[in-house]
Amino acid sequence: MFDKFREECGVFGIYGHPEAANMAYLGLYALQHRGQESAGIAVSNSQRLRALRSMGYVAEIFTQDALATLPGHIAIGHTRYSTAGESSVGNAQPLLIDCVHGQVGICHNGNIVNARELRDDLVGHGSIFQTNSDTEVALHLFARSKAASVEDALIEAIAQLSGAFSFALITKDRLVAVRDPHGFRPLALGRLGDAWVVCSETCAMDLVGATYVRDVEPGEVLFIGPDGPRSVRAFPPAPSAHCIFEHVYFARPDSEVFGRSVNEVRTDLGRQLARESAAPADVVVPIPDSGVCAAIGYAEQSGVPMRFGLIRNHYVGRTFIEPAQSIRHFGVKVKLNPVRSLLKGQRVVLIDDSIVRGTTSRKIVKMVRAAGAAEVHVRISCPPTISPCFYGVDTPQRSELIAATHSLEEIRRYLGADSVAYLSLEGLLSAVTPESGRYCTSCYTGNYPVAFPRDQQAYLQLALKLDGRPAQVAEAEPVA
Ligand code: SF4
Repeated sequence: MFDKFREECGVFGIYGHPEAANMAYLGLYALQHRGQESAGIAVSNSQRLRALRSMGYVAEIFTQDALATLPGHIAIGHTRYSTAGESSVGNAQPLLIDCVHGQVGICHNGNIVNARELRDDLVGHGSIFQTNSDTEVALHLFARSKAASVEDALIEAIAQLSGAFSFALITKDRLVAVRDPHGFRPLALGRLGDAWVVCSETCAMDLVGATYVRDVEPGEVLFIGPDGPRSVRAFPPAPSAHCIFEHVYFARPDSEVFGRSVNEVRTDLGRQLARESAAPADVVVPIPDSGVCAAIGYAEQSGVPMRFGLIRNHYVGRTFIEPAQSIRHFGVKVKLNPVRSLLKGQRVVLIDDSIVRGTTSRKIVKMVRAAGAAEVHVRISCPPTISPCFYGVDTPQRSELIAATHSLEEIRRYLGADSVAYLSLEGLLSAVTPESGRYCTSCYTGNYPVAFPRDQQAYLQLALKLDGRPAQVAEAEPVA
């Protein structure tokens, strides 16, 4: 409903725990924000792998009875919002196969940018695909490997992949964690008693009671068995390109990703935003929940008090019934409501983390004005988003991104705000880390650290789940 980029997946894995499926369930529960379309868990009891996957939220799928069907001491789990591959239970993960190397299951966060080419080649050599997800390519490469051991076959398979991938894999006696050589998406390693845990974000470790040990390094493959983790380097060294949007929006603020507290980074972004573009105002109001940390930093730096002038209804389900006589801006109103007593007559600075199409922001500005605000100044704690992502994030095409097609003044007029300002790229990088070269910033620059296939339109078809059909490019709403 909100106008945001969408992270597509969260992964979790555990080795050496008598209640592995239950732990995976809890881990996925903490990672639900990374994907809400489907979820799944695969387990091993050393004899065989079993999996349960379904559409829906983690808590809906994994009842006590369902978890009881998943005995074992190794588990992997996945929450998914699809980017590559359409939304269907067939594409839900973990994907499981049985091949010459035995049973293996895989969970993937990211996007394999050469999946189409690899798939065409595999199909040309007789492979039959069960899904249209990019992840299945890795399994076919594994199954076709002539390597003598499971470990060598896995390394041979993943060494052919390009793009963004944090994998959790399961065999009958191993948990395997893999991170692409650029380290696009996060993957952390932790300890829970004698058990080992890997997960997309540390908030999942907090829930199961695990302790963070370290990040799985970019380009590292960790085979976790009875003797603990064994690290293998599967790729030549590559420049790191951590997704900066994890810090801006995707990750939970109670997580640590890429070695930094998300909460602290977001608060720093707000401070930096105030240094760069403070607005004359009486009150700072975050757009909940994504703008809260930045608003705290902005208020701290600017000296303008922060108030919760917009209240979010946390109990809205995925669908709601709108009356036949439709209510204007119903979709936003059902989720957000203004606190008139805080906004009336005030010069308001509205803080949000990002603007994609601008459609929701425009409605929120209207809502704040209708509540009596004297002025509305919009401040965004990241630079203008001008390019789509090809590394595992659901983004519209470039033509739909308001900042790619409109000037700052046009955006201001479209939003109906008194002023609009974004954080500079330099400001973002300085708040995230002094080593600015470590991050992917492609959605702000259009410079991609890993090349995607030359036919960008065909690639977008895949990335936008429009396989085989012409891309539907929505026209941007006219500028007022
Ligand atoms: S393009 Fe943007 S969203 Fe995608 S990986 Fe890079 S920083 Fe993250």
